[in-house]
Amino acid sequence: MQKNETAIVTIEDIGVNGEGIGRVDGYTLFIKDAVIGDVAEVKVTKAKKNYGYARLMRVITPSKDRVEPVCPHARRCGGCQIQEMSYERQLAFKQAKVKGNLERIGGFSPEVTEKTMDPIVGMDEPFYYRNKAQFPFGTDKAGNPVTGFYAGRTHDIIENTDCALGISVNKEILELTLEFMKRYKIASYNETTGEGLIRHALIRYGFKTGEIMVCYVINGKKIPYAEVLVEKLSAIKGMTSITISPNRNRTNVIMGETYETLWGQGYITDYIGDVRYQISPLSFYQVNPAQTEKLYGLALEYAQLSGHETVWDLYCGIGTISLFLAQQAREVQGVEIVPQAIEDARRNAEINGIENARFYVGKAEEVLPKYYENYAKEHPGEHAHADVIVVDPPRKGCEESLLRTMVEMEPERIVYVSCDSATLARDLKFLCGEGGYRLEKWRAVDQFPMTVHVETIVLIQKKNS
Ligand code: SAH
Repeated sequence: MQKNETAIVTIEDIGVNGEGIGRVDGYTLFIKDAVIGDVAEVKVTKAKKNYGYARLMRVITPSKDRVEPVCPHARRCGGCQIQEMSYERQLAFKQAKVKGNLERIGGFSPEVTEKTMDPIVGMDEPFYYRNKAQFPFGTDKAGNPVTGFYAGRTHDIIENTDCALGISVNKEILELTLEFMKRYKIASYNETTGEGLIRHALIRYGFKTGEIMVCYVINGKKIPYAEVLVEKLSAIKGMTSITISPNRNRTNVIMGETYETLWGQGYITDYIGDVRYQISPLSFYQVNPAQTEKLYGLALEYAQLSGHETVWDLYCGIGTISLFLAQQAREVQGVEIVPQAIEDARRNAEINGIENARFYVGKAEEVLPKYYENYAKEHPGEHAHADVIVVDPPRKGCEESLLRTMVEMEPERIVYVSCDSATLARDLKFLCGEGGYRLEKWRAVDQFPMTVHVETIVLIQKKNS
């Protein structure tokens, strides 16, 4: 097919970015906003040799899974990719995606993936779940400050103060901020010129505590007339922390390296299960607390702790999973590359009175092998052992050297939490191949409804034990 050609296609599949996939005489087209089952008129926007991209022009016969999006900006906004697909279908898609990767990349047979699968964990109410949002600020054609979200793949701002994935107080905070900026002629940051002050507003909310945090990322040291802004914000019920984070770097990194408290405290508090966490503007914290609680509950269930185990939690972030597990293990050791996250982890252990968790800063693929080596030196004839190892790596998964050390430590069980089922499947292929482990259970958890992302939790068990 050629660019600008139109065609009528039936959408048969869905791509990794949520786009619909259809075929015209064997030629594959990727079509954003098309839903599986749609019959649609499309126009080719980019044609490669074996596949191309097309724009959805008109839905001729809508799929039975097509629904009216809750948010009027859903199609343009880069935040959601599959809001026009029924939630039931989203869940089925995500589960099938993980299963497919386990089979294609992991080399497991469909019988095995079927037998070991627990059904995907969805949400009862798949909207308004996010406890965090970062809203970029810009300027419209009339020169007024605006805020919203970036359109997919660009930094064009789609004006929207009322995201359907976020909490309702976002709107009040953002509108009050825009009004303040207009009144005192405070400009939004301009990425092209590097001028203007307000870059982003970070808003966080503790669903369990009702505490709210607002942090303005600014291209400067202070906000003029900040006291007026603070007075308005602090009147909002639940407001606990108002901060600024200076960031003068001309990069895409949102937050600055430090923050300064304008009002209240520098952090909010929230709970996952019974564990209390202090969350500062710079801390990593899971964005969907309801689903996170279910995910960590599963991690605990899969770990099958009796209170005697030595557990490692690799890629531990602020120690969220570690502290959850520490309540039922003899000791937990967490490893994480970001030093600030480890500081948070240690403080979180302390405020919860958890004394059997230890944290190391460093790359998991360096810390664990080094620990293993040193142990062997100090205990001739022995090797470091773990009863359970939990890993929760970023999208790229684990390095093979790390997987090897994990295997050498001979844990009974490994619990693998993954945000990318392709790298998960690759790592499982090793662990369940030469690693000598057996796939026991896997379960997808929908941490991010309306997007194509899916979290997976897996339990593998040492063979012959
Ligand atoms: N388990 C945590 C965080 C998981 S996100 C939670 O549930 O909250 C993955 C974490 O891995 C991030 O905190 C990231 O900073 C960290 N990370 C990335 N590469 C790493 C590496 N090579 N070694 C250790 N940690 C790493």
